[in-house]
Parts: sequence; C-alpha cells; structure tokens
Amino acid sequence: MAGMAAKPLAAAAIAQLEADGVATLIGTVVNPAGLIHAKTVPLRRMGSFAEPGLGASPVWHVFAIDQTGIVFGESTGVVGDQRIRIDLGALRILGDGFAWAPGSFYTQDGAPDPYCARGALRRVSQRLADAGISALVGHEIEFVLVGPDGARLPAHLWAQYGLAGVLEHEGFVRDVTAAANASGVAIEQFHPEYGANQFEISLAPQPPVAAADHVTLMRIIVGRVARTYGMRASLSPVPFAGSVGSGAHQHFSLTRDDVPLFSGGDGPVGMTADGASAVAGVLNGLTEAQGVLSGSVVSGLRMAPGHWSGAYACWGTENREAAVRYLTRGDANPYGAHVEVKIIDPSANPYLASATILGLALDGMTRGLGLPAEVAVDPSSLSQTARAEVGVTVLPTDQTAILDALGASATMRDILGDAVVDAVIAVRRYEQEHYGGLDPDAVTEKFRLAWSV
Ligand code: GLU
Ligand code: MG
Repeated sequence: MAGMAAKPLAAAAIAQLEADGVATLIGTVVNPAGLIHAKTVPLRRMGSFAEPGLGASPVWHVFAIDQTGIVFGESTGVVGDQRIRIDLGALRILGDGFAWAPGSFYTQDGAPDPYCARGALRRVSQRLADAGISALVGHEIEFVLVGPDGARLPAHLWAQYGLAGVLEHEGFVRDVTAAANASGVAIEQFHPEYGANQFEISLAPQPPVAAADHVTLMRIIVGRVARTYGMRASLSPVPFAGSVGSGAHQHFSLTRDDVPLFSGGDGPVGMTADGASAVAGVLNGLTEAQGVLSGSVVSGLRMAPGHWSGAYACWGTENREAAVRYLTRGDANPYGAHVEVKIIDPSANPYLASATILGLALDGMTRGLGLPAEVAVDPSSLSQTARAEVGVTVLPTDQTAILDALGASATMRDILGDAVVDAVIAVRRYEQEHYGGLDPDAVTEKFRLAWSV
C-alpha cells in the first residue's frame, strides 16, 4: 500500500489500517552493529509511536552481535532515555495483522539524536541537496537459506545461478515475491546466487533513506516467509567458512538539476567532471570507510580476490573484482549510468553504508579529486608489479587496523559525526576483543544467524 501522510494523524488513517486487517504495528531501527531492533504497539497507539515516540535506552546503539554484549560508553550508558519515532510516511502493510514503519532516534526534547543511523543518512542527503545534487540508491540483498539452528540445508539440486534453486525453493520464491508486491517493495530481480542455497534480491533505486528503509522491510519479508518453510535466512557476510560470501552491494547515481553526473560528460567513460570526482572520492575513502562498510568480525573472511566482493581497491567498467564497478548507460540499464560499491556486506548498517558512500562522493566533488585510470581486467590476472604500477592494492582484511583507520579518519568523522563513528568502533572492537581469536569455522558458525530476523 502507498505511504500515508504523517500529519495530521487522522483517526481515519487508523480506521483504514483496521479495515486492511492491521492490528499490530512494528517499528524498527538499525544499530551500528547492523542489528535490527524493534518495538511493537497495538494500532491505536500508532500516533504516540510517531510522536512523541517510544522510549529506548541509549545503549541500543551499542548492543553487540553476540546476543548479550553491551559496550557502554560515556553517552551510551544506563542513564538517559531517547525517543524512537516511526515515520508514518513510510508505513507498509506486512499482512497477517501486521504493519511496519522505520524509526529514527530523537532526544527527549525532540532534537535528532547524533547516534541515529537514519538521521545520519538524512543529514548527508541534505548536504547533497545543499550542493544541488540528488542521489538514488539501489540495494542488493544476498542471503543463504539455512535451518532454524543455522544448519546447512541440503543442496543436492543446485547449480550456480541455477534453475534448480528456483524450483527447489519455489514456494519461498513465490511467497517472497507476492509479499513484496503486497507491501509495495519494488523487487528488480530475484535469483539463486553462486553459493549453495544462496539467493539475491535487487531492489529498485530510490532516494537514499527510503532505499535503506526497504532493506529492513525486505529482510522482514524474507525472514517471515523463510520461517513458513522451516528455514531461516543467514545475513552473515560469510555464513560458512570457505564458501562464497554474501554481499550487500549498493548502487548509486547522482544528478544535478535532473542532469546525470555519471554520463553525458567528457570525462572518463563519459562521466562528467563531478561524476569522476565523486567516484574518486569513494575510491579515496575506501580504506577509511571499511570499518563501516564491512567492519564486522566476520567481514574480513569475505574480502578476498576471486569472490566478486570487490577486494581490489580500484574502479572499472563492469569489473566485478573492482571495489567500485561502473555500469554504463544503455538499454540494459534503464536507470542510466551508475556506480556500484561492492565491498559493503550485510553486517553493515545500510543507512550508515549509504551515508558513507554518498558522503565520500560529495567529498570527492567538493575537493575536485582526479580519478585514477580504470582497471579493465581482473586485477588477479596482473602480476604484483603490474598492479603496483597502476596503483591497485588488495583491501586490508585486518579488522583491527581497519577500525583504527576509521577512528583516525577526519573525513569519516565529518560525514557521519563523532557519535556514530565512535559507536561503530565500540561495537566492532568488542567483536574483535571477544571473538577475533576464533578460527574461520568457529567465527562463521557463531555468527551465522547474528543478523537474521
Ligand atoms: N556474493 C558476492 C559478494 O560477496 C557477490 C556476487 C555478485 O557479484 O553478485 O559480494
Ligand atoms: Mg550477487
């Protein structure tokens, strides 16, 4: 169903939802560790959930992925209370008596909370708007179907991107598609992936906040349907050690006064000067941003050449081994030329990941950064010397060093704010301190369902 006007909150809106069979409203927020938190209210309390909002302790921002950990900090301790306000303009009906809306954090007196991920993305979108630029973001959601306890499911009939996967899981595929249609989530495509029982759903491009909202909505839909078939969806970056990982790639395009920045120009591959600087900004900030984009204790296992996870710090047209892949405008690409950031994984908070890449793009434009030459081949096919000559490196996988780079990055602190950066570092350092010593089998098993819903 279409979104509803936030104000005035009419009794008519509640009556309409009641008529649609809604009795319970789920409001969600996503924390710096990538965990989705929720509160529910009976429908008659919808107005209060929107304003003034429901109370939540500041420690929600620092809940860790091990089901119990809290990384207390100066402003994320036991004292204090915040408000989660749902955005009624983004409300969607889930079916079976449920509706859902994304939430943002506010302080008790109604000011935006500096720790709020949705708020951080709103701020970056506003900065772009102030520079006369608007962005669209398209998300990819990859996941692996597993048993309720995370056990590997049989895959006797499975081929990479194979029809067998569609037919083996036809009920799941049908019901997810139907539920997405009913809730108004625009699936672009849905297909089996490379790994056994791995699927990918791509979502249509939308303005950044709405696009990230729909990642949560799609995860809810996938999680609910998987359950009806006795399965769960693992959203771990590497559900099984030694197997291919799951990404959460984000595609973005930029326009100024409706004129695209990634095509129609006289820069490299037809980019405008601003478009080229935007890509340069993302490339330039990759290593400082990794802590946000792929910073969990499992993330480093995915970031390897040969996995299409973009482990090489370079850009290239249609290059799936490049951290930044450029997609040309054309009939096959109705949305026009755009850029895909491949290193993002599903342990990342999608709002913060979008805020990061868009913020870096804006930083590149503001500084007029020059774009290095594109890499048109699989960087693995080049000798180390040849790679060094063109300045292509493999992205680091040492998560401790990655978090240090994030902490020391003035650019990332400017984009996300100190509160967000410090909270991301706090929860990810906790993961390193407690679980960084586990071997790949143990760490992937322990966190296989950590981000599942
Ligand atoms: N599963 C790969 C990853 O971890 C991506 C495969 C693809 O390019 O779709 O990023
Ligand atoms: Mg994929």
